[in-house]
Amino acid sequence: MLDLPLWALASKLAGKELTSVEVTQACLSRIAATDPKVGAFLRVDPEGALSAARAADASASRGPLHGVPVALKDNLLTAGVETTAGSQILAGFVPPTDATVTARLKAAGAVIVGKTNLDEFAMGSSTESSAFQKTKNPYALERTPGGSSGGSAAAVAARQVFGALGSDTGGSIRQPAALCNVVGLKPTWGRVSRSGVVAYASSLDQVGPLARSVRDAALLLQVIAGRDAHDATSADVAVPDFAATLEDGVKGLRIGLPREYFVEGMDPEVAAAIRDAAKTLEAAGATVREVSLPHTKHALAAYYVIAPAEASSNLARYDGVRFGHRAKDVKQLKDLYERSRAEGFGPEVKRRIMLGTFALSAGYHDAYYVKAQQVRTLIRRDFDQAFADVDVVLSAASPTCAWLLGEKLDDPLAMYLMDVLTLPTNLAGLPGLSVPTAKSSGGLPIGAQLIGKPFDEATLLRAARALERERTLDAWSPAL
Ligand code: GLN
Repeated sequence: MLDLPLWALASKLAGKELTSVEVTQACLSRIAATDPKVGAFLRVDPEGALSAARAADASASRGPLHGVPVALKDNLLTAGVETTAGSQILAGFVPPTDATVTARLKAAGAVIVGKTNLDEFAMGSSTESSAFQKTKNPYALERTPGGSSGGSAAAVAARQVFGALGSDTGGSIRQPAALCNVVGLKPTWGRVSRSGVVAYASSLDQVGPLARSVRDAALLLQVIAGRDAHDATSADVAVPDFAATLEDGVKGLRIGLPREYFVEGMDPEVAAAIRDAAKTLEAAGATVREVSLPHTKHALAAYYVIAPAEASSNLARYDGVRFGHRAKDVKQLKDLYERSRAEGFGPEVKRRIMLGTFALSAGYHDAYYVKAQQVRTLIRRDFDQAFADVDVVLSAASPTCAWLLGEKLDDPLAMYLMDVLTLPTNLAGLPGLSVPTAKSSGGLPIGAQLIGKPFDEATLLRAARALERERTLDAWSPAL
């Protein structure tokens, strides 16, 4: 039963062919058997999960995820269950409330099995900056699952849960999805509430699903999307029925291949797989043309000013006073701040705080922060122009397949480059999706990225479904 996609499991649970307790127990056993190797979970909550499963089995009212075991990235608040964002500074922090996305999953009947590993505060691309553990790629245990939602991607790939949520600031859902052979969707900024999401860079952060199939991703997005009174930036835009148009195919769909996304340093096999995906969609009735997003080359630099600037502000709240780690034996308030932060934050987070504080400081603010915001506008305009001619943009999600653990740890810039194809989407606030598309000659997953117009997740899902239908990778599961 662990090989069922989420939607099929949900229908078996609805038909009472399976009980939530037996499915949840199967997930817990699978986690016990495989997670010592994979390291996807920071925390499993067997009692909480089983009691939610029992309640689901006993309850007559049925939500769309009734009784379905899922996992949450550990930067999404879970009432009564420790939430660390992968940082020592939040070790032991038990939130009093649920994030809106957590509450919506619960209201839909989902069973939350545990919290998954991530780069500290979601800053990273390999899940290696977690203060607690390294997660391995279930398809190749010596390799990274990607990041920062590497735990969620690995848990779904390893069949430990039927779906998971992650967050994406510059690629953290799509890139690990690509590296772990699962579907990952970053919604339009504002589509999903950020209330109760541990903030990294607020103007870029979005929560979204990691799933085994496109239909599963659609189902999870359906549950979490929509206006939330607790997040003033959540958009008051109608949420369509994503499943309704999923099988409509791509006849007449105009697809753009951005010239600038076939970058130097890209694995030629990945580039070839994306051109193949374009051919597949063309054969299914889409038209494909080249488009240009001319300011792409400035996106990485702009992102690494804006994201750290927002992080330096957001992370000012970790002061050792209100929650999380508090340094011992200090006499002065200033020492409390300094030592709590010095002890609680890891090296990558400190690097980001310093970069961001510098970029915002008097005298540099205009040269860095304001400039980066201007570049951001140009990037958004590039997409607006491209979308005058095409409905979706197709590219790779990650320039390479999963790399070896440790390989890029001494070279932050090499690590930052792993988001070069995903972060422009966040700068522009657009929805992006990664769908498995090929297997490399080395036996590693390759993901195709689809980027859409604002609030047009439905078209991304439909195009991804068309691609998924043509591929024969469904039976390709990790040998664990
Ligand atoms: N790797 C990028 C960063 O470190 C993106 C991370 C993310 O999307 N959360 O900022």
